[in-house]
Order: sequence, then structure tokens, then C-alpha cells
Amino acid sequence: MNLFIGHGSPMNAIENNEYTNAWSELGKLFKPKGILMISAHWVTDGTKVQTVSKPKKIDDMYGFPKALYDLKYPVSGDIDLSHQVMDLVGAEEDNSWGIDHGAWSILVHMYPKADVPVVQMSLDKNLSPKEMFEMGRKLKVLNEKGYSIIGSGNVVHSFKYMNMTEPQPFAVEFDHVIEKYVKANDSDKVINYHLIDDYDKSFQTSEHFDPLIYVLGASEGSEVEVFNRGVEMGAFSMTSYILKRA
Ligand code: ZN
Repeated sequence: MNLFIGHGSPMNAIENNEYTNAWSELGKLFKPKGILMISAHWVTDGTKVQTVSKPKKIDDMYGFPKALYDLKYPVSGDIDLSHQVMDLVGAEEDNSWGIDHGAWSILVHMYPKADVPVVQMSLDKNLSPKEMFEMGRKLKVLNEKGYSIIGSGNVVHSFKYMNMTEPQPFAVEFDHVIEKYVKANDSDKVINYHLIDDYDKSFQTSEHFDPLIYVLGASEGSEVEVFNRGVEMGAFSMTSYILKRA
């Protein structure tokens, strides 16, 4: 089983709301041997992977309350998983990063005891959506070994159209169209998102959308369950997917 999770604001790490409650419930139902985490917040030149037994917590956000920086998430890595990722996709070892807020803001709710090992893999800024999908495909075998792949981002992520009062209609529509294609296992349509109306309003840079593409590559033919459907702050979609191999 793989997941794409809309992470939204870093504040979710220390709040309890409908989204974080869903993360807690999910963690109770599902406990993989380890997680390969692909977060929107680690974009590199080439594909990198963390290979340490105790990854550091990366506080990659600015101007938030002290409680977020004080929060600890002392999770372990999984060296064996790291090496498998290197073999499968040719990822290079890189321990300059660690577990960033795209990962820990969700995981503190899913696994508050930090008892599921996590390995982060970066997004390669040089890959096309099709190449990201193909890379996801190569990671599929990890599921057979008891690991899960989690992509953490947001289908719609636009500071340009941020609005504190109501969801932007284009954001709701784009989110809805992507949901339709994900549910239909129509990955080509997701990969070719530039053909969808208003995609360029939905995000100006693709790093929050890209984790979904890797996860879809790893989850071909899966049954899809949607949760946390919704658009927050005008143009940030929280819509998330559970992808279960049929
Ligand atoms: Zn983010």
C-alpha cells in the first residue's frame, strides 16, 4: 500500500483537526516495515537518498511558533531500504538533508512513537513527469518486501492565489479533475497535467505535485481511496490518496 498525502501547513504537526485526525487513524490501521518518503521539500540535482540510521529533523520553515522547532521526531532510518533504493533507481547517497516538515508534520500524527523507520528520497529537478512516473515504477518491488512509499505534497499549492476566506474555484476544479484521473488509474492524464485547464494557477512550481507522480508509478493498477478531500487557504489542496494493490 502506498500513499499520497496533502500535508498543508507545518502547523498541522502541532494541531488536531480533521486532517490530522485522519492521519492518526491511518497510522493505527496500517504499519509498514519502513517508509520511503518522497517529500516536496527535498528537490535536488539528481536523485538522492538518505542512508543514516538516525536521520536528523530538518526545520525547513520560517517564522513559525517555537513549538514546531522544539518538536522531536527521533525516527530511525533503514540502511537496507536505502541501499535497495540506490540499486533500483541509481539514487546517490546524500545525508546533507534528513526528515523535513513534509515528512514529520504527518508522521508525528501517524506514528507518534516514531517506530516506523523512514528513508527520504529526493525529487530530481531534471526529470520530466513521465520520467518521475517511470522511477516510481522501479520502486514498486519495495511493496512486496513490506515497505510503503509515501509521497507528501499538495495537488494544488499556490501562494499566488492564497485566500483566507474561501477556496478558489479553479483550485477545487483542478483538484477534482486530478481525483477523477487518479481514481480511474489514468496516470497518463496526470502526467500530462499541463493539458488540464488552470494547471498553471494551481501551482507555479511543481514540487508539491511531483510526489503524486512518483507514487502513481509505484501503484499502477491499485484500488484508490480518497481522504482529506478539500482546499484550504484558497489554493492548497489537502486531498490525499490511499493506493492499495488490487
Ligand atoms: Zn509543503
